[in-house]
Amino acid sequence: MNSTTNHRLEGFPEAVSIVEVGPRDGLQSEPVFVPTDKKIALVNGLIDAGIRHLEVTSFVSPRAVPQMRDAAEVLAGVDRSQGAVLTALVPNATGAERAAEASVDAMVVFMSASESHNLKNVNRPREQSLKGFADIVRIAGEANIPVFGAIATAFGCPFEGNVPVGAIVDVARAYRDMGITMLSLGDTTGMATPPLVQERCRALARAVPEADIALHFHNTRGVGLACVYAGLLEGITRYEASVGGLGGCPFAPKATGNVCTEDLVYMLNECGVKTGVDLNRLIGVSRDIETVMGRILSGQVMKAGPRLETYGMDAVATANG
Ligand code: ZN
Repeated sequence: MNSTTNHRLEGFPEAVSIVEVGPRDGLQSEPVFVPTDKKIALVNGLIDAGIRHLEVTSFVSPRAVPQMRDAAEVLAGVDRSQGAVLTALVPNATGAERAAEASVDAMVVFMSASESHNLKNVNRPREQSLKGFADIVRIAGEANIPVFGAIATAFGCPFEGNVPVGAIVDVARAYRDMGITMLSLGDTTGMATPPLVQERCRALARAVPEADIALHFHNTRGVGLACVYAGLLEGITRYEASVGGLGGCPFAPKATGNVCTEDLVYMLNECGVKTGVDLNRLIGVSRDIETVMGRILSGQVMKAGPRLETYGMDAVATANG
Protein backbone atom coordinates (compact mmCIF):
# COMPACT_ATOMS: atom_id res chain seq x y z
CA MET A 1 0.00 0.00 0.00
CA ASN A 2 1.27 3.50 -0.96
CA SER A 3 4.51 2.02 -2.21
CA THR A 4 6.20 3.61 -5.20
CA THR A 5 7.98 0.37 -6.09
CA ASN A 6 6.97 -3.18 -6.93
CA HIS A 7 10.48 -4.42 -6.43
CA ARG A 8 11.23 -6.21 -3.17
CA LEU A 9 14.76 -5.88 -1.90
CA GLU A 10 16.66 -9.14 -2.15
CA GLY A 11 16.78 -11.13 1.10
CA PHE A 12 13.86 -9.28 2.68
CA PRO A 13 10.68 -11.04 3.86
CA GLU A 14 7.53 -10.60 1.77
CA ALA A 15 5.51 -9.12 4.62
CA VAL A 16 6.05 -7.99 8.20
CA SER A 17 3.72 -7.04 10.99
CA ILE A 18 4.02 -3.74 12.77
CA VAL A 19 3.42 -3.72 16.52
CA GLU A 20 2.43 -0.23 17.56
CA VAL A 21 3.74 0.59 21.04
CA GLY A 22 3.22 4.37 21.09
CA PRO A 23 0.13 4.29 23.34
CA ARG A 24 2.17 2.41 25.98
CA ASP A 25 5.93 2.89 25.54
CA GLY A 26 5.44 6.36 24.08
CA LEU A 27 2.86 7.87 26.39
CA GLN A 28 4.19 6.17 29.52
CA SER A 29 7.20 8.48 29.61
CA GLU A 30 5.28 11.67 28.94
CA PRO A 31 5.22 13.96 31.97
CA VAL A 32 1.70 15.23 31.22
CA PHE A 33 -1.32 12.93 31.53
CA VAL A 34 -2.89 12.37 28.11
CA PRO A 35 -6.69 12.32 28.57
CA THR A 36 -8.35 8.92 28.18
CA ASP A 37 -10.48 9.96 25.17
CA LYS A 38 -7.35 11.15 23.33
CA LYS A 39 -5.66 7.82 24.00
CA ILE A 40 -8.70 5.95 22.69
CA ALA A 41 -8.80 8.17 19.58
CA LEU A 42 -5.09 7.45 19.02
CA VAL A 43 -5.53 3.67 19.23
CA ASN A 44 -8.66 3.67 17.06
CA GLY A 45 -6.92 5.89 14.48
CA LEU A 46 -4.02 3.44 14.33
CA ILE A 47 -6.39 0.50 13.84
CA ASP A 48 -8.17 2.42 11.05
CA ALA A 49 -4.79 2.97 9.39
CA GLY A 50 -4.34 -0.82 9.23
CA ILE A 51 -2.25 -1.62 12.32
CA ARG A 52 -3.34 -5.03 13.62
CA HIS A 53 -1.19 -5.45 16.72
CA LEU A 54 -0.97 -2.78 19.42
CA GLU A 55 0.48 -2.55 22.89
CA VAL A 56 -2.30 -0.37 24.24
CA THR A 57 -1.44 0.20 27.87
CA SER A 58 0.16 -1.14 31.02
CA PHE A 59 -1.47 -2.56 34.14
CA VAL A 60 1.22 -1.23 36.43
CA SER A 61 0.57 0.46 39.75
CA PRO A 62 -1.17 3.80 39.12
CA ARG A 63 1.16 5.32 41.72
CA ALA A 64 4.29 4.12 39.89
CA VAL A 65 3.10 5.18 36.43
CA PRO A 66 0.19 7.65 36.74
CA GLN A 67 0.08 8.07 32.95
CA MET A 68 -1.30 4.50 32.66
CA ARG A 69 -3.86 4.75 35.48
CA ASP A 70 -6.73 4.58 32.94
CA ALA A 71 -5.64 1.22 31.45
CA ALA A 72 -9.04 -0.50 31.75
CA GLU A 73 -10.99 2.54 30.47
CA VAL A 74 -8.73 2.83 27.41
CA LEU A 75 -9.20 -0.85 26.55
CA ALA A 76 -12.95 -0.55 27.01
CA GLY A 77 -13.06 2.33 24.51
CA VAL A 78 -11.07 0.69 21.72
CA ASP A 79 -12.81 -0.52 18.56
CA ARG A 80 -12.40 -4.29 18.58
CA SER A 81 -14.49 -4.97 15.47
CA GLN A 82 -11.48 -5.14 13.13
CA GLY A 83 -9.76 -7.94 15.02
CA ALA A 84 -6.66 -6.04 16.08
CA VAL A 85 -4.62 -7.82 18.74
CA LEU A 86 -4.54 -5.61 21.83
CA THR A 87 -1.84 -6.33 24.37
CA ALA A 88 -0.87 -4.75 27.68
CA LEU A 89 2.16 -4.89 29.94
CA VAL A 90 1.57 -6.78 33.16
CA PRO A 91 4.13 -6.58 35.99
CA ASN A 92 2.52 -8.84 38.62
CA ALA A 93 -0.51 -10.92 39.65
CA THR A 94 -2.60 -7.84 40.49
CA GLY A 95 -1.90 -6.43 37.04
CA ALA A 96 -2.72 -9.80 35.46
CA GLU A 97 -6.11 -9.90 37.19
CA ARG A 98 -6.92 -6.37 36.03
CA ALA A 99 -5.75 -7.19 32.48
CA ALA A 100 -7.88 -10.35 32.36
CA GLU A 101 -10.89 -8.38 33.54
CA ALA A 102 -10.30 -5.87 30.75
CA SER A 103 -10.11 -8.77 28.24
CA VAL A 104 -6.70 -8.05 26.75
CA ASP A 105 -5.78 -10.31 23.82
CA ALA A 106 -2.35 -11.02 25.31
CA MET A 107 -0.43 -10.08 28.45
CA VAL A 108 3.17 -8.97 28.07
CA VAL A 109 5.57 -9.78 30.89
CA PHE A 110 8.95 -8.07 30.92
CA MET A 111 12.36 -8.36 32.47
CA SER A 112 15.78 -6.95 31.68
CA ALA A 113 18.68 -9.04 30.47
CA SER A 114 20.92 -7.04 32.81
CA GLU A 115 20.52 -7.28 36.58
CA SER A 116 21.03 -3.55 37.33
CA HIS A 117 18.35 -2.40 34.91
CA ASN A 118 15.91 -4.97 36.26
CA LEU A 119 16.56 -3.69 39.80
CA LYS A 120 16.06 -0.10 38.67
CA ASN A 121 13.02 -0.80 36.47
CA VAL A 122 11.01 -3.20 38.64
CA ASN A 123 12.92 -3.09 41.92
CA ARG A 124 13.73 -6.79 42.14
CA PRO A 125 16.42 -9.19 40.91
CA ARG A 126 15.84 -11.10 37.66
CA GLU A 127 15.43 -14.38 39.53
CA GLN A 128 12.51 -12.92 41.46
CA SER A 129 10.95 -11.48 38.29
CA LEU A 130 10.94 -14.96 36.75
CA LYS A 131 9.32 -16.47 39.86
CA GLY A 132 6.58 -13.82 39.72
CA PHE A 133 5.77 -14.69 36.10
CA ALA A 134 4.46 -18.10 37.21
CA ASP A 135 1.44 -16.40 38.85
CA ILE A 136 0.82 -14.27 35.77
CA VAL A 137 0.99 -17.32 33.49
CA ARG A 138 -1.50 -19.13 35.73
CA ILE A 139 -3.98 -16.22 35.83
CA ALA A 140 -3.67 -15.70 32.06
CA GLY A 141 -4.10 -19.44 31.45
CA GLU A 142 -7.31 -19.55 33.50
CA ALA A 143 -8.67 -16.69 31.37
CA ASN A 144 -7.40 -18.31 28.16
CA ILE A 145 -5.16 -15.35 27.37
CA PRO A 146 -1.70 -15.89 25.84
CA VAL A 147 1.42 -14.41 27.46
CA PHE A 148 4.22 -12.74 25.51
CA GLY A 149 7.69 -12.07 26.94
CA ALA A 150 9.74 -8.92 26.52
CA ILE A 151 13.49 -8.83 27.14
CA ALA A 152 14.66 -5.31 28.00
CA THR A 153 18.27 -4.08 27.68
CA ALA A 154 18.78 -6.81 25.06
CA PHE A 155 21.48 -4.81 23.23
CA GLY A 156 23.13 -2.94 26.08
CA CYS A 157 22.48 -1.59 29.56
CA PRO A 158 22.81 2.05 30.66
CA PHE A 159 24.33 0.90 33.97
CA GLU A 160 26.42 -2.14 32.93
CA GLY A 161 27.36 -1.34 29.33
CA ASN A 162 27.60 -4.41 27.14
CA VAL A 163 25.08 -7.17 27.80
CA PRO A 164 26.47 -10.59 26.87
CA VAL A 165 24.45 -12.49 24.28
CA GLY A 166 24.29 -15.40 26.76
CA ALA A 167 22.17 -13.28 29.11
CA ILE A 168 19.50 -12.88 26.42
CA VAL A 169 19.59 -16.55 25.56
CA ASP A 170 19.15 -17.39 29.26
CA VAL A 171 16.05 -15.18 29.56
CA ALA A 172 14.62 -16.57 26.30
CA ARG A 173 15.10 -20.13 27.58
CA ALA A 174 13.49 -19.28 30.91
CA TYR A 175 10.50 -17.81 29.05
CA ARG A 176 10.27 -20.88 26.80
CA ASP A 177 10.33 -23.17 29.83
CA MET A 178 7.24 -21.32 31.08
CA GLY A 179 5.55 -21.79 27.72
CA ILE A 180 6.22 -18.22 26.53
CA THR A 181 7.57 -18.22 22.97
CA MET A 182 6.33 -14.89 21.54
CA LEU A 183 9.32 -12.78 22.53
CA SER A 184 10.56 -9.31 21.86
CA LEU A 185 14.10 -8.01 22.14
CA GLY A 186 13.96 -4.51 23.55
CA ASP A 187 16.65 -1.98 22.87
CA THR A 188 15.58 0.05 25.87
CA THR A 189 18.17 2.83 25.55
CA GLY A 190 19.12 2.80 21.88
CA MET A 191 22.35 0.80 22.17
CA ALA A 192 21.62 -1.65 19.33
CA THR A 193 23.78 -1.72 16.22
CA PRO A 194 23.28 -3.78 13.04
CA PRO A 195 26.04 -6.32 13.92
CA LEU A 196 24.54 -6.82 17.41
CA VAL A 197 21.13 -7.42 15.83
CA GLN A 198 22.57 -10.03 13.51
CA GLU A 199 24.51 -11.72 16.34
CA ARG A 200 21.52 -11.84 18.73
CA CYS A 201 18.96 -12.98 16.17
CA ARG A 202 21.25 -15.80 15.08
CA ALA A 203 22.09 -16.87 18.63
CA LEU A 204 18.39 -17.05 19.54
CA ALA A 205 17.48 -18.92 16.35
CA ARG A 206 20.08 -21.54 17.29
CA ALA A 207 19.42 -21.75 21.05
CA VAL A 208 15.64 -21.28 21.20
CA PRO A 209 14.31 -22.19 17.74
CA GLU A 210 10.70 -22.29 18.96
CA ALA A 211 10.83 -18.57 19.82
CA ASP A 212 9.04 -16.10 17.55
CA ILE A 213 11.12 -12.93 17.82
CA ALA A 214 10.04 -9.30 17.50
CA LEU A 215 12.51 -6.41 17.54
CA HIS A 216 11.99 -3.19 19.49
CA PHE A 217 14.42 -0.35 18.80
CA HIS A 218 14.77 3.16 20.10
CA ASN A 219 16.25 5.72 17.75
CA THR A 220 18.47 7.26 20.43
CA ARG A 221 21.61 7.24 18.29
CA GLY A 222 19.97 7.52 14.88
CA VAL A 223 20.45 3.89 13.78
CA GLY A 224 16.98 2.51 14.63
CA LEU A 225 15.99 1.84 11.02
CA ALA A 226 19.46 0.48 10.20
CA CYS A 227 18.86 -2.06 12.98
CA VAL A 228 15.47 -2.95 11.47
CA TYR A 229 17.25 -3.44 8.14
CA ALA A 230 19.65 -5.88 9.83
CA GLY A 231 16.66 -7.69 11.36
CA LEU A 232 14.92 -7.98 7.99
CA LEU A 233 18.02 -9.66 6.56
CA GLU A 234 17.76 -12.20 9.41
CA GLY A 235 14.15 -12.94 8.44
CA ILE A 236 12.55 -11.22 11.45
CA THR A 237 8.94 -10.31 10.63
CA ARG A 238 7.68 -8.38 13.69
CA TYR A 239 8.81 -4.85 14.55
CA GLU A 240 7.67 -2.63 17.39
CA ALA A 241 7.45 1.07 16.69
CA SER A 242 5.82 4.19 17.99
CA VAL A 243 3.68 6.62 16.00
CA GLY A 244 5.44 9.96 15.55
CA GLY A 245 8.46 8.50 17.37
CA LEU A 246 6.80 9.04 20.76
CA GLY A 247 8.55 7.42 23.66
CA GLY A 248 11.50 6.80 25.89
CA CYS A 249 11.91 5.05 29.19
CA PRO A 250 11.63 7.06 32.42
CA PHE A 251 13.93 4.59 34.19
CA ALA A 252 16.79 4.82 31.67
CA PRO A 253 18.92 7.97 31.48
CA LYS A 254 18.73 9.90 28.17
CA ALA A 255 16.53 7.31 26.44
CA THR A 256 14.61 8.75 23.50
CA GLY A 257 11.69 7.63 21.41
CA ASN A 258 11.06 4.37 19.64
CA VAL A 259 11.68 3.88 15.96
CA CYS A 260 8.91 5.92 14.37
CA THR A 261 6.05 3.88 12.89
CA GLU A 262 5.49 6.03 9.77
CA ASP A 263 9.21 6.16 9.02
CA LEU A 264 9.35 2.37 9.37
CA VAL A 265 6.26 1.80 7.21
CA TYR A 266 7.68 4.20 4.61
CA MET A 267 10.98 2.30 4.46
CA LEU A 268 9.22 -1.08 4.25
CA ASN A 269 6.89 0.18 1.51
CA GLU A 270 9.80 1.46 -0.53
CA CYS A 271 11.63 -1.86 -0.05
CA GLY A 272 8.61 -3.75 -1.39
CA VAL A 273 7.75 -5.36 1.97
CA LYS A 274 4.02 -5.53 2.76
CA THR A 275 2.73 -4.15 6.07
CA GLY A 276 -1.02 -3.73 5.43
CA VAL A 277 -0.74 -0.18 6.79
CA ASP A 278 -1.99 2.88 4.90
CA LEU A 279 0.85 5.40 5.14
CA ASN A 280 -1.24 8.49 4.44
CA ARG A 281 -3.73 7.63 7.17
CA LEU A 282 -0.92 6.83 9.55
CA ILE A 283 0.64 10.24 8.90
CA GLY A 284 -2.73 11.77 9.75
CA VAL A 285 -2.78 9.95 13.11
CA SER A 286 0.76 11.06 13.79
CA ARG A 287 -0.03 14.73 13.11
CA ASP A 288 -3.09 14.49 15.37
CA ILE A 289 -1.13 13.10 18.32
CA GLU A 290 1.52 15.77 17.75
CA THR A 291 -1.22 18.38 18.29
CA VAL A 292 -2.34 16.58 21.47
CA MET A 293 1.23 16.45 22.82
CA GLY A 294 1.80 20.12 22.00
CA ARG A 295 5.38 19.65 20.88
CA ILE A 296 7.23 18.70 17.70
CA LEU A 297 7.59 14.92 17.49
CA SER A 298 10.71 13.27 16.07
CA GLY A 299 9.08 11.45 13.13
CA GLN A 300 10.38 12.54 9.74
CA VAL A 301 7.89 11.21 7.17
CA MET A 302 5.08 12.94 9.09
CA LYS A 303 6.82 16.23 8.19
CA ALA A 304 8.05 15.48 4.65
CA GLY A 305 5.10 13.35 3.49
CA PRO A 306 5.26 10.33 1.18
CA ARG A 307 8.07 10.13 -1.39
CA LEU A 308 6.09 11.32 -4.39
CA GLU A 309 4.38 14.18 -2.63
CA THR A 310 4.75 17.02 -5.11
CA TYR A 311 4.16 20.74 -4.88
CA GLY A 312 2.95 23.45 -7.23
CA MET A 313 6.00 25.30 -8.60
CA ASP A 314 4.76 28.54 -7.13
CA ALA A 315 4.81 26.97 -3.63
CA VAL A 316 8.56 27.62 -3.44
CA ALA A 317 10.34 30.95 -3.99
CA THR A 318 12.64 30.98 -7.03
CA ALA A 319 16.31 31.34 -6.19
CA ASN A 320 18.18 34.22 -7.78
CA GLY A 321 21.55 32.57 -8.13
ZN1 ZN B 1 10.96 0.75 24.58
